Amino acid sequence: MHPFTLERPRDAAAAIALGSAAEPATEYIAGGTDMLQLLQDDVRRPERLVALRADVLDDRIDIQGDGTLRLGAAATMADVADHARVREAFPLIADALLASASPQVRNMATVGGNLLQRTRCAYFRDVGVAACNKRRPGSGCAAIDGDNRLHAILGGSEHCIATHASDFAVALVALDAGLRLRALHGERTVALEAFHRVPGDTPHVETVLQPGEIVTAIEVPASGALSRHAHYLKVRDRASFEFELVSAAVALEIDGDRIGAARVAVGGVATKPWRLRGVEDALAGARADTAAYRTAATRAVDGAVPRRHNAFKVDLLVRALVRALEIAGSRA
Ligand code: SF4
Repeated sequence: MHPFTLERPRDAAAAIALGSAAEPATEYIAGGTDMLQLLQDDVRRPERLVALRADVLDDRIDIQGDGTLRLGAAATMADVADHARVREAFPLIADALLASASPQVRNMATVGGNLLQRTRCAYFRDVGVAACNKRRPGSGCAAIDGDNRLHAILGGSEHCIATHASDFAVALVALDAGLRLRALHGERTVALEAFHRVPGDTPHVETVLQPGEIVTAIEVPASGALSRHAHYLKVRDRASFEFELVSAAVALEIDGDRIGAARVAVGGVATKPWRLRGVEDALAGARADTAAYRTAATRAVDGAVPRRHNAFKVDLLVRALVRALEIAGSRA
């Protein structure tokens, strides 16, 4: 492991000042569940780490008067998943968190850090592999012609096809979540859907964060009737402590036998949490039945680019989406 110093700033302003300095090479660490692996494997080699925990960042979980859910970025995954009012009003979020990692990891990992976890592409995490544009810009992509069973069929480029690993982010994107960001010179709000970037020809630039900028909170608007018919489905190689092959976050507003509105996002198949507005449009106004779910789900793979080992994800994505819609639609 590359040697580094650990700074424990007294507040967020001090943390941002440290993170914004051009030198030494600095990165933030919160729960550390992903960063420690990256340090141990020599994938990240900062000179300095700046700790962002509850004494620096907000860890409160609050449902405000208008029904908006506000999560301080330092709240742990476990605390959010176990929160009674989150479970009642935002079941998609609680279920996506409980489908993630292990209880031990969820006790340590923060919700802000979860959104910034790095890809599980094995080539990215193996410094013995020379070709990885995300780790070494301009070096190539070992996955394009290598083992790409777990890689993306949506949102990729010839420079990178790594998937985004967060279940939580998929649920949040379906629910129109926004992020509060803070930098040296002020704060701003960014829609989570616009926060992560597709790789294009700069796969090492994964988000719209500016140097030193941090995520301070996650805000989710009230989902109202959508929360009644919601489901998070995760398909993976083993039943627990495993990343997804395909996941689907769906929420339906159902009036009688008709769908009024739909929210659909998927993970495990795309380079960022992937909202499926074409599927949502096909569901709006349709009957809430399997035939309509099947018709709409076929639109999920519009523009998909399967690779040598992951073509199975095309069919799996459609099937998983139909199953998630059936479960959500059948809830009382
Ligand atoms: Fe690196 Fe992306 Fe290629 Fe994986 S898919 S080897 S992360 S460039």
